[in-house]
Amino acid sequence: MTNSGTLYIVSAPSGAGKTSLLKAMITDTDGVRISVSHTTRQQRAGEVDGQDYHFVAVAEFQQMISDGAFLEYAQVFDNYYGTSRQSVQQQLDEGIDVILEIDWQGARQIRQLMPKARSIFILPPSREALAERLQGRGQDDQSVIERRMAAAKEEMSHFNEYDYLLINDDFDVAKQELAAIFIAERQMMASQTQRHEQLINNLLA
Ligand code: GDP
Ligand code: ADP
Ligand code: 5GP
Repeated sequence: MTNSGTLYIVSAPSGAGKTSLLKAMITDTDGVRISVSHTTRQQRAGEVDGQDYHFVAVAEFQQMISDGAFLEYAQVFDNYYGTSRQSVQQQLDEGIDVILEIDWQGARQIRQLMPKARSIFILPPSREALAERLQGRGQDDQSVIERRMAAAKEEMSHFNEYDYLLINDDFDVAKQELAAIFIAERQMMASQTQRHEQLINNLLA
């Protein structure tokens, strides 16, 4: 397969800032897209179906599992979340880099299937900051926030299974550090020799 894009996995406890960082980073970076997951969780105010997630009923999600439609899926906070096999493969084949915003269970499945995937874990600067961000986002019920804070330690305990670790303290600094990972990965020898085959042939002729 020529011109294949790189697959990235990004995980973080809920509220650490992964969605806002990734959205901000990709507006300045060409050739990279965030994969749109399927989920059975309730749609938040402001979320757009088909853009933030494909919101589906449990029965539909289970049918997709039986059909083998998911590259990976997991149960997170009592809801199902999954990555569509077809859309990810299609974008990678087109040479587009694809980012999966998935939990640690999904990350393990992807590493088994695609060992070349690069993975990034994002931590908050403190537990207090995480709680404040979950509250400040103002999107979830109090019981949902408490559930997510309680699950944060479990998610964070998997940080050392990843290739890169970012601390999202100052937003702009974290955004630049995230962009640096994507920029550096693109300069890897294997990618560059493929991309600049013509130039290299000319220079060495
Ligand atoms: P947020 O992270 O607080 O914005 O909450 P979400 O409801 O968007 O995501 C909840 C959890 O599900 C997070 O741990 C995500 O990383 C995870 N998640 C989202 N989409 C997927 C997916 O397609 N597959 C898997 N395995 N996990 C997902
Ligand atoms: P996640 O996708 O990891 O659940 P979000 O991107 O939704 O997290 O961020 C959670 C909340 O924290 C949002 O309201 C966001 O604006 C805020 N936030 C993100 N990064 C920072 C930061 N570095 N400093 C302060 N607030 C932040
Ligand atoms: P939220 O419901 O706040 O959008 O996401 C909650 C958690 O679900 C996040 O930690 C997110 O990474 C995870 N998540 C979202 N989509 C997927 C997915 O497709 N697969 C897996 N495994 N986890 C996901």
